[in-house]
Amino acid sequence: MAFARLEKKDMYLHFSIDKRLPKLILIDQGALEKIGEICLKLGVSQKALIISDPTVIKVTEDKISESLHESKIDYSIKLIEHATKDAVEQVRKEIRKGKSSVVFGVGGGGVIDVSKLSASQENIPFVSVPTVASHDGIASPRAKINNIAPFSIEAKGPIAIIADIDIISKAPYRLTASGCGDLIAKLTSVKDWELAHLRVNEKFDETAANMARESGQSLIKNAKLIRKKLKEGYKKVTEALIKSGISMSLVGSSRPSSGAEHMFSHKLDQIAPNSAYHGEQCGIGTILMMYLHGGDWKTVVKTLKTVGAPTTAKDIRVDREIIIRALCEAKEVRRDRYTILDEKRIVPKVAEEVATVTGVI
Ligand SMILES: [Zn+2]
Repeated sequence: MAFARLEKKDMYLHFSIDKRLPKLILIDQGALEKIGEICLKLGVSQKALIISDPTVIKVTEDKISESLHESKIDYSIKLIEHATKDAVEQVRKEIRKGKSSVVFGVGGGGVIDVSKLSASQENIPFVSVPTVASHDGIASPRAKINNIAPFSIEAKGPIAIIADIDIISKAPYRLTASGCGDLIAKLTSVKDWELAHLRVNEKFDETAANMARESGQSLIKNAKLIRKKLKEGYKKVTEALIKSGISMSLVGSSRPSSGAEHMFSHKLDQIAPNSAYHGEQCGIGTILMMYLHGGDWKTVVKTLKTVGAPTTAKDIRVDREIIIRALCEAKEVRRDRYTILDEKRIVPKVAEEVATVTGVI
């Protein structure tokens, strides 16, 4: 991997010279206080646009403004409420109006996605500043905006990632558990990719596949530590999510990290919107797809339970019929992507059996 790890007293930075990857990654306690210093390291000295939401800005604004002032970087703040097409348009307008040279997305998945897509469309760099470890969009070259497309669309990945573990660890734990669901998903997404390579000769990249797989395996290894809700555990989840995001940047597609389990989650978004978080749905999707792959789905269930993530329809408050329908219709989300769903005929009776045997319903 083209990363150099530079140890400093209480933090470490990863630098990359590979154009596909973030130039700089900082994952540590107090990382937000380095935001100005990081801008200077990246060569950003002109106006920055900070995108956030009304809740997050309250706990981050003081640290951000102090750091940017110290580094003499001019900035403005724009708050958004929801990740919609309209929010993307508003942010793009703000970028042009303020002649911003960089966009910081400070917040959860929605803020990150809107900031990433807006910066990408206005052709300026984007810095990812996640305040929750809930999915791998933190570091990916993809953005999911519900009223644009039912799955993630292409955008430019972040030039840098600043993940402050002090802030991430204060977010509701349910969000971190959801991030764990998005991590376990890499075990089936990579299996789907291998299958596509084998069956339809799809291009396969060993490095990207290994990175995605390792991020899923890291969850299995650290599940107990994560459940203790210590900063070390939050750091493990954040690191693994970033690694998964980078696996997508390496190949310029979501392929390494998004397979049939993601299609299942996207289908749930369509037929039972706002029932659960992305990672929670992906976690349940992983149980079902791992079963269809003939893999070790019991370890998937055990790991999700250990971290406190949902494993059943009841846990995410949807009816059994919804799970059966989502499993039957998941393939429709992306017909172009070959997965295990192309190898099985998932009629309602089969879907019901799979979901019953695995304890999902
Ligand atoms: Zn995901």
